[in-house]
Amino acid sequence: MGRYDGRVAVITGAARGIGFGTAQRFAAEGASVAILDLDEASAQEAAGRLELVEGAKAVGIGCDVVDGAAAEAAVQRVVDELGGIHVLVNNAGITRDNLLFKMSEDDWDLVMNVHLKGAFNMTKAAQKHFVEQRYGKILNLSSVSALGNRGQANYSAAKMGVQGFTRTLGIELGPFGINANAIAPGFIATEMTDATAARVKMSVEDFRAAAAESNPVKRVGFPEDIAAAAAFLCSDEASYITGQTLYVDGGAKLG
Ligand code: NAP
Repeated sequence: MGRYDGRVAVITGAARGIGFGTAQRFAAEGASVAILDLDEASAQEAAGRLELVEGAKAVGIGCDVVDGAAAEAAVQRVVDELGGIHVLVNNAGITRDNLLFKMSEDDWDLVMNVHLKGAFNMTKAAQKHFVEQRYGKILNLSSVSALGNRGQANYSAAKMGVQGFTRTLGIELGPFGINANAIAPGFIATEMTDATAARVKMSVEDFRAAAAESNPVKRVGFPEDIAAAAAFLCSDEASYITGQTLYVDGGAKLG
């Protein structure tokens, strides 16, 4: 018996990377899974690749989390097609890195919108169902960059904002049987970090090797590392944990 048998998990930005790895983990533990991403065809293709347990279902839905009406419609579609909603993972994210003096207003707005407004829109849509059924698990993706990172004034502010958002959800929603937590990943090997390698003109291999060398466990992280922590934090075993941010970073910020 899996920890997520009979549960429905919604994961945003899950056509690839950490989101897809987390979707795979929830599916392996028995959940029905909704993969949301900007492009519906990619979301459906990713949903089709999930290995589900018997009786579980998967759906791929196109949804820009910045659009409140789209977020609301996507959550309703999940409830209609998968029979409910129990877990929401706000994972969709982007970077628009630049030093402050070169950062445009658009770079600022876009990053704030996807991480903060996106998590707000999705959480608002899901909490209605969670409050009604007096059960729900919310997981938000923060980052070690929340602690400050050169070239990421926008991303860092958004990711620390996610931590404040998570603490407030813990306070407001706790009385309704809802837990809200965050994971702050360190370097995870995905297309997001591969794109950063290209931006700083390094090969993916060299960039990953440098990241591995600079942290205590001497390796980079993989989507599975985040998925394992997500599967714990959204489980009933973690029901006395709320409002917290767990750093999953190989000790990168220990000093
Ligand atoms: P990724 O490989 O770039 O995947 C992000 C996914 O989110 C993409 O499929 C992207 O779609 C989708 N997305 C972007 N904007 C969206 C929107 N408005 N609505 C819906 N979906 C949207 O990123 P990742 O590395 O897996 O990162 C996942 C999360 O972890 C992000 O929140 C990121 O900030 C956080 N994180 C990552 C790392 C890391 O080292 N990788 C470290 C700390 C935190 P498109 O492909 O169409 O753009």
